[in-house]
Parts: sequence; structure tokens; C-alpha cells
Amino acid sequence: MSTFLDLGLKEPINRALTDLGYEKPTVIQEKAIPQIISSLDDLKAFAQTGTGKTAAFSLPILQLLDEGSKNTQAIILSPTRELAVQIGNNIKEFSKYMPNIKVVTVYGGANIEEQIRGLKKGAQIVVGTPGRTVDLINRRALKLGNIEWLILDEADEMLNMGFKDELDKVLEATPETKQTLLFSATFPKEVEAIAKNYMTRPVEITSGQKNTGSDDVSHEYYLVSERTRYQALKRIADLNPDIYAIIFCRTRRETQEVADNLIKDGYNADALHGELSQAQRDSVMGKFRKKTVQILVATDVAARGLDVNSLTHVINHKLPDQIENYTHRSGRTGRAGKTGISIVLISNKEKGRVGAIERIIKKKFVQSKVPSGKEICQNQLMHLIDKVNNIEVNQSEIENFLPSIYKKLEGLSREELIQKFVSLEFNSFLSYYENAQDLNDLSKDSGRNGRGSNENMTRFFINIGRKDSLNPAKLIGLINDQNITNNIEIGAIDILDTFSFFEIDKKFQEQTLSSFAENQPEFSGRGVNIEITKKERGGGRRGGKSFGKKDGGFGRRRNSEKSFSGRRSETNDRSRRSSRANGDRPDRNSSSNRKPSGFGRKRRERK
Ligand code: AMP
Repeated sequence: MSTFLDLGLKEPINRALTDLGYEKPTVIQEKAIPQIISSLDDLKAFAQTGTGKTAAFSLPILQLLDEGSKNTQAIILSPTRELAVQIGNNIKEFSKYMPNIKVVTVYGGANIEEQIRGLKKGAQIVVGTPGRTVDLINRRALKLGNIEWLILDEADEMLNMGFKDELDKVLEATPETKQTLLFSATFPKEVEAIAKNYMTRPVEITSGQKNTGSDDVSHEYYLVSERTRYQALKRIADLNPDIYAIIFCRTRRETQEVADNLIKDGYNADALHGELSQAQRDSVMGKFRKKTVQILVATDVAARGLDVNSLTHVINHKLPDQIENYTHRSGRTGRAGKTGISIVLISNKEKGRVGAIERIIKKKFVQSKVPSGKEICQNQLMHLIDKVNNIEVNQSEIENFLPSIYKKLEGLSREELIQKFVSLEFNSFLSYYENAQDLNDLSKDSGRNGRGSNENMTRFFINIGRKDSLNPAKLIGLINDQNITNNIEIGAIDILDTFSFFEIDKKFQEQTLSSFAENQPEFSGRGVNIEITKKERGGGRRGGKSFGKKDGGFGRRRNSEKSFSGRRSETNDRSRRSSRANGDRPDRNSSSNRKPSGFGRKRRERK
């Protein structure tokens, strides 16, 4: 393996790399740097995120560009603001001993006048998002007539995000003589078309196999139903007390919902998606980088710019719409020589999609069982013991207290002492997982309709639907208003246009019928009636989208019951969803419904 000096980089660059702790080039750097330095040929590089591609294209440009000229000589396009800023900052670090080098980063959502002023001062390297770059070209603030290098970073992602027209414009605004360097993790036909139309006989290099994931990532899938997906997610987190993970969701709404639920359940989580303001996004990313947030729930796009090397897990809450994006997601872990785990939560019917991903990444997924309560308790216990073993005792601070502590505990044997200390932390976990169900069993029949049907539930027809402004929250409210019993579990809900379905614990089916009959409730001016239906679910879906699929997966209870300890058990988690669906705001500060023990607590202390 060569060093950066062997690659022909000049001394100021090498010095900066030493400061950054870059000891040896990565594979893509070893291949790309000498190639770009020694040849004017265009370059097509297959590179995942986290392989060191920023340095792979920036260092040769810094080596070659004319420091004496203020003309813009290199333009780097990147899909998101975060990534652009990160690239800009990386280049500033690489060029810290090259005082004449100026880098300007331009992106939407920020003051354009300020960016124009920056460009006017002269910048040899401009990093930009496609939309803002085109805007600045149109305003004649960004002049690309002297461009020698055009870099398209994460080209697949830029096209995914709909920037084809912008790329075309930038490519056309740059001189024919430029060298185009295209970096992409995947090469779908749209990227190949760009390469074909705008590049001349490009040299191809790869870092690892095309489209495949890092060797340092293992891939696991868990079979879940819509009913068990969130609980499975929590159990995975509980099984890994030191988890540092991104949970990927497909939509902003799903992202916010998962994050809200995790926060409400006491996990150290936060959401990152495009609906947040830039300041909020920066703040969340900052906290995640510092590990004051341990679980980041994010959309694909929002997480693009996040440069974190030590993730233990990437969790696909839902598979990405385009399976090629799986490589992007899983590539967030297993970086910089560390190992990582990429998990997908899938229903039975999605197994085929896992097969398709396996063909792309050329690796097999391992099926993992959703951990049982007992396994989690055992893991937490061992983790606690390890913590006790590794804790440093601050003798000087604790010394004064010890005599009275010894005195208080003098009646206890060594065994009793250990048992009591361990139980102090452990009891809450035990009670939390006391009656925990086997989620693998619940997920088994998640096949055809995506949700497990539960033999213990009765399915009811109700004569109101979306046209009456019914939604799952309102339906839960309506059921709760009938005072059927103190503690009723509500299962899946399907809201259709003019009627709906809901499930109720079978034990209370008669009370449910009689309560509705007695109360004769009205909803949106219509008299409400309900009937027991057969368990056939397919027919009920006709003509309407199933909200129950999203919101109805977890059983719900009335909101009146608290467990003995003041904390709710895992089974009682359901009531939280009920209370939220009834309009209660999740309370970040309330501790009454948080999950127990070390996991949440430890991280809160670090804040
Ligand atoms: P990138 O793929 O450019 O986003 O880089 C991924 C991460 O690896 C970043 O945190 C870089 O700072 C780091 N990195 C890149 N090249 C090297 C290197 N040669 N040695 C150590 N770390 C590196």
C-alpha cells in the first residue's frame, strides 16, 4: 500500500493530511489520485459513501490548479446542502497550508447575495448544489468559462432527486476542454446516459465491486408485520445498549412519527427530514455527531450529508422505494475500517425484495429473530455487569462517604450485596418485559395483507369513513367514549371512504356491541352503528387506502391504566399510541411512560 507522498502530492497537502490523521490512501484514493494527476481523461468512479472519495477528487485538483489565478477552475456538484458544505469544509482542511486557495460553497435556502459576494472575491473551487449553481450561472455571478474540472459527486443521488435539467445546464455551461469526474455508488441507466452524453471515453475505476456494499457490513433481516414493526425496532435498540444508529424511513411523516414514538418511549432519538428548518437540521446533526443523540430517524435525502464513521447499526424501518438506495443506506455503517450491521424490517411479502438486494450487493442476508424479553434482559444485565467491572472508582471523592456506607450495608453478604445492586437497575427492565409476547409468532402471518390477523380480536364494521372526516385517532376517541370497559385493546383499523373496520379484544365483543347500541353515538351528524364482520380482510379494502396499515398496527388500550410501578409495561405501550391518537401531545419531559433503565438514562446524562 502506498503513502500519500508516493501518490505524488505536494508537501503542503501532505502536511494537512497528516494533521487530519490520514495515514494511508484508501482504495479509491490510491486509484483516482494518480489517474487524475497524470491524465486529462474523463473519469467514471464507482464509489460508495464513506470510501474517501472527497479526498480522491479534491487532492489532485489542489495539486494541479493554478494558485496564482483567481478564476474558478473546479466546480463540484453535490446533491444536498449538507454534503456540499461537508465537501467545502474538507477542501478547506486539505488546503490549509495553501493560503491562496479559496473555496466557496453555494446552496439553496441561504442568502444568495452573500454567496455572490464570496464568488466575486474569486474562488478557484466552487462546491454547489445543482439548483443554486444554475441560479448563480443565470445571474452571471458564477462564471464557468475557465473550468478545468467538473466533478459530479453522488451522481445517482442527484438524478434521483430530479436534478437532471440542472446537471444538463451546468454541463453545457462548462468548456468542452474540461475534465469530467463522475462519482456514483450505483450506475442506473440515467447515470450511464449522463456519462455517455457528456464524457469522452472515460476511464473507469472502482473501489470494491460495483454497487456492492462494504465488506465490513453484515446484513440482517427481521420478519415483522405492521403490528409488530415498531416493537421490533425498540427491542433491537434494547438489545444493543450502546447502539449508535440511523433508522431510515421513506417519508417525512413516517420519520417524524417513528422519532416521536421513540422519544416518547424514552429513547435518545431525534428526527432529520426536509420539513425541518435548516437551523433545526443543523442542530440535530450536531447532536448526533456528538453522540448526545444516539438514534437518528431520517429520510434518505436528509441523511446524505451526514459524515459519521462509527455507526453501529443502520436500520431500514421500511425498505427504500428504489432498492439501489439500499447500498447508500447500508454504506453509512462499516466505514473507515469499522464493522457495522445493516438491518431491514420486512414483512413476508417483501422477502423477494431482499433477494433483489442480495443480487445487487452480492451478499446474503441473515434472518435474525426479534429478541425475546428474556434475551433483552439477559443482555442488559451483562452490559450492566460490564459497566460495573469497567467503572473507575474516584477514591479521593468517595473516600469520605465510605465508612457510613459500609456501616449501612454491613449486615449483607457479598452475594446479597451483588444481587441488590444489580436489581436496582435491572428490576425495571424485568417488569417492562414481564409478559412480553414473542413478536416472531405475531409476525408469522404477515404475508398477504401485510398485517398479522389476531385470533384474539374481533373485527367490527362501522358505518362511517373518510368522507365523514374519520381518521384512526377519531375512531379511537369514539370507541373510548363508549366506556366499554376500563382497559380495552383496539387492534388494526382500516378507514375506507364511506365505512371502516376496527378490531377489539374478543373478550369485549358483546360489551362493545351493547355499548354502541345503548349510547347511540353520532359522528359528523350521522348515527353510528357497528356490526361484527367475518375476519376476511381483503374485501374490506375495496375502494380505499388503509390507514390502519400505518396507524393501526399496534393494539391500543384506553388511556386510564397505569402499571404498578408508574411505568408502563411493553404491553401497555399501546395506550401511549392511543393517548397520542386522541390528540395528546407527546411530552418529551414526561418520565411516566419511558422505557426503563440504562439505555435512555445513560444517554440523557451525557447531554
Ligand atoms: P468520504 O467518502 O469522502 O465522505 O470520506 C469518509 C470518511 O473517511 C471521512 O470522515 C473522511 O474524513 C475519512 N477519510 C477519507 N480518507 C481517509 C484516509 N485516507 N484515512 C483516514 N480517513 C479518511
